[in-house]
Amino acid sequence: MEFSSKAKKPKSFKDHELFSQLKIPPGVFFVIRCDGRSFKEVCSKVGFKKPFDKAFAELMVSSSKAVFEGGLNPLFTFIHSDEASFLFNGESTFKRRVEKLLSIVPSLMSSKASLGLHSIFNYNGPVSFDARVVLLDKAEIADYFAWRQMEAWRNHINSYAYYTLLSKGLTPREASLKLKGLKAPQLHELVFKEAGVNLATTPPWQRRGIALIWEEEVKEGFDPVKGAKVKALRLQLKEDWSPPIFASSEGRGYIERSMEARLRGVTRP
Ligand SMILES: [Mg+2]
Repeated sequence: MEFSSKAKKPKSFKDHELFSQLKIPPGVFFVIRCDGRSFKEVCSKVGFKKPFDKAFAELMVSSSKAVFEGGLNPLFTFIHSDEASFLFNGESTFKRRVEKLLSIVPSLMSSKASLGLHSIFNYNGPVSFDARVVLLDKAEIADYFAWRQMEAWRNHINSYAYYTLLSKGLTPREASLKLKGLKAPQLHELVFKEAGVNLATTPPWQRRGIALIWEEEVKEGFDPVKGAKVKALRLQLKEDWSPPIFASSEGRGYIERSMEARLRGVTRP
């Protein structure tokens, strides 16, 4: 369709875009947390092992890395189950616009996960992640990640117990009923007795989740102008499948080191 000079100029709907100026306040840290939509169904269709499948965890890691590949640079990232939390300090990330952050971050994850499921597992359906924004004071950052890591730990115990009961022939309803009200030590005992699995010795990523951290590495290079070998610090993104407990002082220092390395990397000339 062409617009002739006689045609009435269409009304602009710019001022209907009410939320486009919604921004995260300056100076505030924030997490964008993405969560897989209907992943239970997706995982069973693909045939991922229960309660944990390393191939699925690898898919979550590569999907989370897509956020970095898309040009964003979270300071610290934590992944467990079908969720990922990306920490930002708000510096020029889409000028802190909420609509942009909540659409682009989960899009990057969703498209990478869909591609991975298709190419590696021959699964053809599209998958999606939702996203939310969590505002944090600097002092609350480690507490936030300790909270998500506690969720990983709870999920680890409950899932092992649940799937142990299913493997013994209980229906999902019977299993849920049986587990209702059981405390962690009882769940540990149940899994050990019925499946011979010691929940204190499962792979660390199942208990503590996976972190993507920034590390500074000394790299030797050659400076052609000086004609000499030079040492330079380079920022590296590292996968850590055995992160410390974030509620400990070791864990706090660990998160801080990743944040600081990234922030130094941004400001270094
Ligand atoms: Mg989910």
